[in-house]
Amino acid sequence: MLKIFIDPGHGGKDTGALGNGLQEKDLTLSIALEMRRILQNEYESVSVQLSRTSDIAVPLSERAAKANRWGADVYVSIHVNAGGGTGYEDYIYEGLSDRSTTARIRDIIHEEVIRATGFRDRGKKKANFYVLRETVMPAVLTENGFIDRKEDAEKLKDPAFLQKIARGHVNGLEKAFHLTKKSDSNDLIRVIVDGKQIGVYEEKENVLKQVEYYLGKANKIELERVKR
Ligand SMILES: [Zn+2]
Repeated sequence: MLKIFIDPGHGGKDTGALGNGLQEKDLTLSIALEMRRILQNEYESVSVQLSRTSDIAVPLSERAAKANRWGADVYVSIHVNAGGGTGYEDYIYEGLSDRSTTARIRDIIHEEVIRATGFRDRGKKKANFYVLRETVMPAVLTENGFIDRKEDAEKLKDPAFLQKIARGHVNGLEKAFHLTKKSDSNDLIRVIVDGKQIGVYEEKENVLKQVEYYLGKANKIELERVKR
């Protein structure tokens, strides 16, 4: 079981950066919740905790302490940048070498977020940030676009783009920790009623809807797994 601690930056009165009608605290929470959804839906043997799951203020000391107490295997802090620039950068604690485990994990997440988002690559950085310093497990802090930069903000306004950011982080965690996908998470389901194919679906709800509709009307309902 891999324990993944996700830390959506800011919250409550601490809005984080503001710009173009957006608040950093909302974006970080959306990305973190999406990461949790993907990890729980699609991966085996992962346990996910968040430093917050709603718009509340959580002190940095509490965020780090919660991850430490839980015994997290990895800490990922999600932020959005401001102050002149565009694109993506990430941080590890300044006291760590480029050959540390943390640096290796960061390098993989870095590559995958850039790949998933197409963000301009601002580089891999180090800093003396509280949550990086006070956590006892490998910890990475990511800065996902600039809220005060029009081109970045336009992207960040799109929920599908926030999903891409989340997906990039999860892809990085998958590679760094060799996570296993649930075997059926990518499969499609073919519905066959009385020998006749009536649809192929990704969403299990659509399959259920068809089965419910034909139940009692048809003699035979078959479901087949279809590999992508
Ligand atoms: Zn921030």
